Amino acid sequence: MPSKKYKSWQLKIHEKTSGNPVCPKDREIININKVFSDKGFARGMLSLEVRCLQSDRGCTWVGQLRHAEEHIGECSYEDQNCLACDALVQRRYLEMHQNDSCPKRIIECAHCQDEYTFIEKQRHEEVYCRRFPLTCPNSCGKKEIPREELQSHLSEKCLMSKVTCPYAKAGCLFEDKRVHLIDHSEASIDHHLEMTFSSLLAAKTELSVCHNGMTELQQKFHESEENNRKLSQLVEDHREQIRDLTLETKRLGMESIQQTKTIEEMSKKNFLLIKQWMTDMDGKIAQQGTKIEEVHRKNLQLEREIKEKNSRHQRTSKPCQRLVDLQKTMELLMNQDDRKITLSANPMIGSQNTAGLQFKTESLSDTTDT
Ligand SMILES: [Zn+2]
Ligand SMILES: [Zn+2]
Ligand SMILES: [Zn+2]
Ligand SMILES: [Zn+2]
Ligand SMILES: [Zn+2]
Repeated sequence: MPSKKYKSWQLKIHEKTSGNPVCPKDREIININKVFSDKGFARGMLSLEVRCLQSDRGCTWVGQLRHAEEHIGECSYEDQNCLACDALVQRRYLEMHQNDSCPKRIIECAHCQDEYTFIEKQRHEEVYCRRFPLTCPNSCGKKEIPREELQSHLSEKCLMSKVTCPYAKAGCLFEDKRVHLIDHSEASIDHHLEMTFSSLLAAKTELSVCHNGMTELQQKFHESEENNRKLSQLVEDHREQIRDLTLETKRLGMESIQQTKTIEEMSKKNFLLIKQWMTDMDGKIAQQGTKIEEVHRKNLQLEREIKEKNSRHQRTSKPCQRLVDLQKTMELLMNQDDRKITLSANPMIGSQNTAGLQFKTESLSDTTDT
C-alpha cells in the first residue's frame, strides 16, 4: 500500500474541521455527528508498512506508517531550503550546495583576502579589490600589477609613459616615452650642464634683485613700525583728551540741569510777582474809578451852582466874567475825564499807562479842589 494514498485519506478525514468530509473510498459525504474515533482501527492503520515518499529518488526506507513522519524529518532525499539563498536542495546535497554552489556563500578574495558573497565577486574584482592583478594600459608588457600599485607604476616606472626631462626646469624641452629618457640623458650631459649653469646665473641675479628688494622692504618695515609707534602714542593722547572731554561734558550736563531748575524757579517767582502786581494794579484802578466818580459828582454840583448864579445875575446885570471862565474850565475838565475813561477801557495799554493815568487823575483832583 503506497503511503501517498494513506496521506490523502488522512487529509480527507481532517477536513471535518473546515467543511463536509468525504469518504475517500466511495466519495460519500460523512456526517460529522456520526464520526467517532476508533482506536483499534487506528492502531491497525498505523501498523501498515509503507515506503518513503522519496523512493523514486532512491530512498530505500520501508517502515510502519506511525514512523513515516519521523523519517521524513531526516530523509536525506527530502528537499530542504538553503538558509542563505532560499533554494530547495535535497538534504544529502545541502552541505555541498552551501560550500560550493550557493550564490550567497561567503568566499575569501584570493588577492586581498577580504570576504564577500559569491554573487559580489565580479564587482569586487572589477572595482573594489585593491590587490586585483591588472595589465599595464600603456602596453609596456608588465602584467599582474596590483590595482593599488598601478598609478605609481605609470608615473614612476612604466617605460611607455610620457615623461619630461629632469632638467626641464633648467630649460630642457625633451618630452617622450620613459624608454627614450636614458638615451636622451646620456646624449645631453653637456647641454644639461650648460643649461644648469645658465639658470644658476639667472637665479643668482634674481636672488640679488630679491636681496635688494628685501633690504628695501626691511627699511619700509622699520618706517612702518616707527609710524605705528607714533600713531599708538597719538591714539593714547586722544584717548586721554576724550576722557577729559567726557568728564567736562558730564559736568556741563549737571550744570545745565541745575540752571534749568533755577530758571524754572525764577519763572515761577516772576509769574507770582506779575500776578501780585496785576492784582495791585486792579485795586488802584478801582480806587481811581471811585475818585473819578466823585469828581463827576462835584462837577455836576458846581455846574448846577453856576447855572443858578448865572440866571440870578442875568436878571440883574451882565454876566460875571469870573463865572464864565469857571464854566469853561469845567467843560475842559469834563472833556479830559471822557478821554481818561476811554484810556482805561483799553486792556492793551492799561498796564503801561497806569502811571500816566494816576498823574492825570491827581492833577484833576488838584484842579477841582482849587
Ligand atoms: Zn526517505
Ligand atoms: Zn544556497
Ligand atoms: Zn580582493
Ligand atoms: Zn607599463
Ligand atoms: Zn634633457
